[in-house]
Amino acid sequence: MRRIAANYIFPVSTPALKNGIVEVDDDGRIIRLIDTKGDLKESGKLEFYNGVIIPGFINTHCHLELSELKGKIKSGNGLPGFIKEIIKYKKTGKPVNALSAIKLQDSFMRNSGIVAVADISNTNTTIQAKIISKIYYHTFCEVTGAKKNSEETFINYESVYYEFVDKGLNASIVPHAAYSVSPELFRQITDFAQKNKSVISIHNQETESENQMFISNNGALFETLKSINAVAENNRNTGKNSLESITGFLPKKNNIIFVHNTYTSKSDINRAAEHFNNAYWCLCPLSNLYIENKLPDLNIFVNMSDNVTLGTDSLASNSILSILEEMKVLGKHFPDISFNDLLKWGTLNGARALQIENIYGSLEKGKIPGLNLISDFDFENMQLKEKSQVKVLV
Ligand SMILES: [Zn+2]
Repeated sequence: MRRIAANYIFPVSTPALKNGIVEVDDDGRIIRLIDTKGDLKESGKLEFYNGVIIPGFINTHCHLELSELKGKIKSGNGLPGFIKEIIKYKKTGKPVNALSAIKLQDSFMRNSGIVAVADISNTNTTIQAKIISKIYYHTFCEVTGAKKNSEETFINYESVYYEFVDKGLNASIVPHAAYSVSPELFRQITDFAQKNKSVISIHNQETESENQMFISNNGALFETLKSINAVAENNRNTGKNSLESITGFLPKKNNIIFVHNTYTSKSDINRAAEHFNNAYWCLCPLSNLYIENKLPDLNIFVNMSDNVTLGTDSLASNSILSILEEMKVLGKHFPDISFNDLLKWGTLNGARALQIENIYGSLEKGKIPGLNLISDFDFENMQLKEKSQVKVLV
């Protein structure tokens, strides 16, 4: 057993404990939390750290299989430009050892305090790394297919899904985005998700021209997709934005994680909250700044604070896979957001979205959530500092 204390312990599900103690067994399972009421007396074997102790981070949006793209894709081009760059790289990029890049980032994420990751996969390249990883992975086998013959497309992705599941890994089949999936394919994905009660995710309103494409059948994203013959049939030119246009295609009762939401409005969120039983909003601020140089309007998300999660996206659009860095950049651009909110977004909400809150996301008796120490913390304002660091304690 270890007895660990710090200036503050943030269990997340309950209020912070000043000079609190957390006891964990040899497997990292929480035995109990001790509220010293701020008066910590050295008793027994105690490890004391300067800083705050929090549970392990949950990353609800990553593409581990794109790890080899670090530094390869230009920033600031907007989503349509980003899509073109990725296609160019796939055609002309030098082949690299993808698996070693994946394994490197898997261990980097664990060392940066991340304990669980929802990872988008279009292929099976991450399986070997995930089998031996210390991180819990939920793989979203992501379907893209704008054209007819959706049956064949779906079966191809379904076989990737079974490769993960057959290795004992958790997985779901999910649509890529409103603009890249045909209505037939949406129906197949939704049928499958309803039968399997699976958690799903979808890239949502990442660029202005995604909405424009659905509302008026034109714009930069529309032109880019047209140039590569990848415009989805039937579900565009609806006169409504992208989220409204595809709401009816998605399963109502499953947990669903909308990712990015850079151009999502307050009424979009309210409508989705009414329609879906459990809609979560995953923010990937560093990726948004990299691709679009724009952040979602956080003021509309603070009202939905129990349903916001954080993701790193991939190294094609980020320089580091760290939830702490995502929290810092949000705190920097929106200083009114409390550390409590940011912490909940980076831990417990993600665990709930992925239905793993019985083990992860908060410091509660019986859970094995991982323990992180945040050092160089701003105690005066109870906020992160630019130079705050994370160290994995458990
Ligand atoms: Zn993504």
